[in-house]
Parts: sequence; C-alpha cells; structure tokens
Amino acid sequence: MEIRSAKYLISNPKVEGCPAPDKPEYAFIGRSNVGKSSLINMLTNQTKLAKTSGSPGKTQLINHFIINNEWYMVDLPGYGFAKVSQKQRASWEKMIANYLEKRENLVCVFVLIDSRLKPQELDLEFIANLGEKGIPFCMVFTKADKNTQRETAANVRSFIEKMKEDWEFIPQKFVTSSVKFHGRKDILNYIGELNEQWYKGDAEE
Ligand code: GDP
Repeated sequence: MEIRSAKYLISNPKVEGCPAPDKPEYAFIGRSNVGKSSLINMLTNQTKLAKTSGSPGKTQLINHFIINNEWYMVDLPGYGFAKVSQKQRASWEKMIANYLEKRENLVCVFVLIDSRLKPQELDLEFIANLGEKGIPFCMVFTKADKNTQRETAANVRSFIEKMKEDWEFIPQKFVTSSVKFHGRKDILNYIGELNEQWYKGDAEE
C-alpha cells in the first residue's frame, strides 16, 4: 500500500466521541517509550503526525488519523509509565477497555514490544487481556536497529515461547526500525490486505 495522504482528525477521551465507524480501523499501543509515535510517523511518511513522547502518560486520549481517506489509524496512550497515579491508571484502563470492546470497526490492534528487552510481564498481560476479549491483534517488535539481528531474534523468540505457554495460535508479527524504515512495507501491505477484506465484506452485506 502506498500512503497518499495522512491527516490528524480528532482526539477523544471516550470511545463515544470517535468518528463514525465507517472505515476499517487499526490501533497502535504499547508501553510508554516503546517507539509508537516514531512508528506511526515512519508508516505514514510524516515527521510530526504523532507526537514523540515529551511527557509520557500525560496524553490520555484516543487519537484518530485518517489515511488515504480509506482507513483510520489510532494512536492509543501507552501503558506502564511509572509516574502515573493510581487514578490515572484506572482511567486509562477504563478508556482502553471501553475502546477495545465497543469500537466495532476495529480490525486489528498492533501491540508494540521493545525488541531490546526480554519478555516483559506488562506486555504479556496486555496481550492475554486481548486474547480473553477475543480482540484480533498482531505484534510489532520495535527498535530492531538498536541490537544485533541475533539479539533481536533471540528476544522475539523468547517472547513467542512465553506466549506459547498460553496460546495455541500465534498471531502475525513484525520486526521494525523506525530509523531504518524497516518493516514498513510489510505492515502497510498487511493493513492493505485487511482493508480489502473489510471493504469486500461491506459490499456483501
Ligand atoms: P512512544 O512513547 O512509544 O511514542 O515512543 P517514541 O516514538 O517517542 O520513541 C521513544 C524514543 O525511542 C525516542 O527517543 C525515539 O527516537 C526512540 N526510537 C523510537 N523508535 C526507534 C527505532 O526504531 N530505532 C531507534 N534507534 N530509536 C527509536
């Protein structure tokens, strides 16, 4: 898929205020500092579409972008930021749970995982939660340029091994570097395929 246009649309504290669910939607989420803004900017070929984290944990909003006038990209606030209060955390949890459960045009959640780290409990927990709710997701291992290929592959492998303890089916995964534009084509083509299915399904209804 080529990116012909990418525009910021709206930010909402609640799923109810999100744009009409008339286009396929893909949400991006992960621990604060995982490289989510950089990935969104890399995918859309922009430098400032998503704001790279100045104050992680502060922007507790659902951010919508429209791509090619065809699909929505959603930047969700990250989890696991140490300095947020209990109250902020609870409100994040509620907002995210509501969004994930109620957003009817949500096709796939892209869960970002730092490829430099050994499997993290928080990421595994978030994924387990998606599984329990039956929400389709895939995994994006970020910042692959920061390690050797061998180290990255070892971390990805041990994450998948951990998942296999609870999962029979392992969803799609991508390894990316926003600095090197690595993984861009694969992710965009994947979204392109899902879009095609979505619009086909729509026409058949
Ligand atoms: P966010 O909090 O998840 O939105 O993370 P950001 O996109 O703001 O990235 C956090 C930090 O990691 C920033 O300093 C980025 O420059 C850096 N970063 C993000 N992605 C990459 C990557 O692919 N490679 C490298 N080397 N650094 C990255």
